[in-house]
Amino acid sequence: MAQNEPRAVDLRIDARFVIPVEPAGALADHALIVDANRIAALLPVAQADREYAARERVALPQHALIPGLVNAHTHAAMTLLRGIADDVVLKAWLEEHIWPREAQFMAPDFVHDGTLLGAAEMLRAGITCCNDMYFHPEAAAQAYEQAGMRAMIGMPILDLPTPYAADADAYLQRGLAARDAFKDSPRLAFSLAPHAPYTVGDDTWRTLVVYARQLDLIVQTHLAETAREVDDARARSHESPLARLDRLGATGPAFVAIHAVHLDARDMDLLATQGCHVVHCPVSNMKLASGIAPVAALLARGVNVALGTDGAASNNRLDMLDEMRVASLLAKVATGDASALPAPRVLRMATLDGAAALGLDARIGSLAAGKEADVVAVRLADVETLPLYDPVSQLVNAAGREHVTDVWVAGERVVAERQLTKIDVDALVGRARMWQARLA
Ligand SMILES: [Zn+2]
Repeated sequence: MAQNEPRAVDLRIDARFVIPVEPAGALADHALIVDANRIAALLPVAQADREYAARERVALPQHALIPGLVNAHTHAAMTLLRGIADDVVLKAWLEEHIWPREAQFMAPDFVHDGTLLGAAEMLRAGITCCNDMYFHPEAAAQAYEQAGMRAMIGMPILDLPTPYAADADAYLQRGLAARDAFKDSPRLAFSLAPHAPYTVGDDTWRTLVVYARQLDLIVQTHLAETAREVDDARARSHESPLARLDRLGATGPAFVAIHAVHLDARDMDLLATQGCHVVHCPVSNMKLASGIAPVAALLARGVNVALGTDGAASNNRLDMLDEMRVASLLAKVATGDASALPAPRVLRMATLDGAAALGLDARIGSLAAGKEADVVAVRLADVETLPLYDPVSQLVNAAGREHVTDVWVAGERVVAERQLTKIDVDALVGRARMWQARLA
């Protein structure tokens, strides 16, 4: 082969702007080269002309390319409960509206259909990876495979019986069986998902910590979501929920604390010294009046903070562009500092920092050579997004998910010109209407 002959590759995407996240900022008129599902190079268009011959080319002259968004906490199956009970306090919301319906309807078909609906919504919003937690993880895994979406799937663990499992050991064994069944799926990973400190007792925490260490699994849990949870815990054992989990050996770099709204200074120091991750869910916390997580104080201590939507029943959107904007605004209100959580920082939380929380940052989260090609195109040339002075600011503060046009997961185009390529949308809409009739 002659020295200057262009290298044959699978795909070349030319974009007006590329926002790789690392390094921060936007590159003008660059091409992203994808080969064998991975990013081969990110380089100026003229250089790409000389060095690469792509079998497929996509020109996006009005768009910004960004890494796929990482939704670091959701319950995708609960998309079927979107809007079923709004403007209700958390306790009544759970006890009167959510749990009774789950008790009656929760089964593999509910989880599959709800997860597929959530995956369809997320992919069209530029979310290429989510961290899920719900019953019947095997049915969720099947839906993500169908959609072509990447997911970290939590194996749920509770000390309470549900139609899914009778006791903690049954939850664990069912979850591990699901993990085993999908061990050859390159886009899926599994974690341990004890629901919360108040629904999982000490013995179960000790057991699952052993499993986590032996199987090298992430442990994710809802933590300190409400003031009441923390008050009850202190009344019972004179320690914060996080201090208790630390005493039981759960904390460390593979521990993901979801919500983390009601933390004291010692909790925050503990999260930092143990290298734990936090998932901030601002819209869910606002909707359920749970409070405001101390994001600026966590970041100041060096804690990695990711972003999540939570389930659609408490959001009601699985929309990380919306979540980024709200996170940025809420941080400003909470601190009285208009410079808190600027656009590049919040975009990093929604991509690379989310990937880090899931232990996936070597594989996804930025547009860097060698990473798997999870890529999203956002059109920034419509009336809502012009004039365009700063693509990163525009993305976070002005663009909406309706401006997402194309999405690739591991180099596969799963959304093309706003159309889902792997999901039968008519059939999915029919299933959503069927569930609406049954659940109402
Ligand atoms: Zn949740």
